[in-house]
Amino acid sequence: MSQGRSTAAPRTSSPGAERLAALIRESETVVALTGAGISVPSGIPDFRSPGTGLWQKVDPMEVAHIDAFRGDPVRFWSFYGERFATLRDRRPNRAHLALAELERRGELAAVITQNVDMLHRRAGTRELVEVHGSIEHAGCPACGQRFPLDQAQARRDDDVQGVPRCDCGEALKPGVVLFGELLPAQALARAEELAESADLLVCVGSSLEVYPVASLPFTTRAAGGRVALVTRSSTPVDHIAELKLDGDVVDELDAVLSAL
Ligand code: ZN
Repeated sequence: MSQGRSTAAPRTSSPGAERLAALIRESETVVALTGAGISVPSGIPDFRSPGTGLWQKVDPMEVAHIDAFRGDPVRFWSFYGERFATLRDRRPNRAHLALAELERRGELAAVITQNVDMLHRRAGTRELVEVHGSIEHAGCPACGQRFPLDQAQARRDDDVQGVPRCDCGEALKPGVVLFGELLPAQALARAEELAESADLLVCVGSSLEVYPVASLPFTTRAAGGRVALVTRSSTPVDHIAELKLDGDVVDELDAVLSAL
């Protein structure tokens, strides 16, 4: 998928997009749930999909594991620093912007995301739940001090071992949930609450295979709400979804926006 897609002219409309627009109109509380697929048009590879990029060279379960960070922060940061650099200059694409616009229009209550790339925030989404944390801050496991991304970067650049360090000397940990770590309880509780209150849960660019997001569509359905999917991959919730748009996420959300 090329980045050029995200700057192409909006597609006029499609029957699927019009149906989703109608569902959004008739729902009182609409919540979006997003995964890696929404950031692919911004040039951020989904490490679960085969392809190029740094995730192909390593096993993310091994290098991005909390034990790897605790055991060898120098090695951890030699890998993770690359990921920081990859994400730092990425810009939101029109799919992120479409969700921010829906919120501005009062059509969308919140975005729950698995992504750590800050792109929803940069697009202007205000009510945002980041269930896997975010690269926005790095924190000190010893004293709890937090540093914004650019400061963590600067500290990493200044360190002879390439490790961003706290004033107390401890290696900083990125504010993302590493493999082997518990999910942030507050974000998790908020995501559950939103999924339960949603009349419509719109899942965008997620294969919905990873906990906790895998369970949220079922939460919405159990509470009487409906589920819509905007994703190319098949998901474990296809059978309970009201509709599925399987085109390019940018094109689909553009079409939904213009149909509203
Ligand atoms: Zn510290």
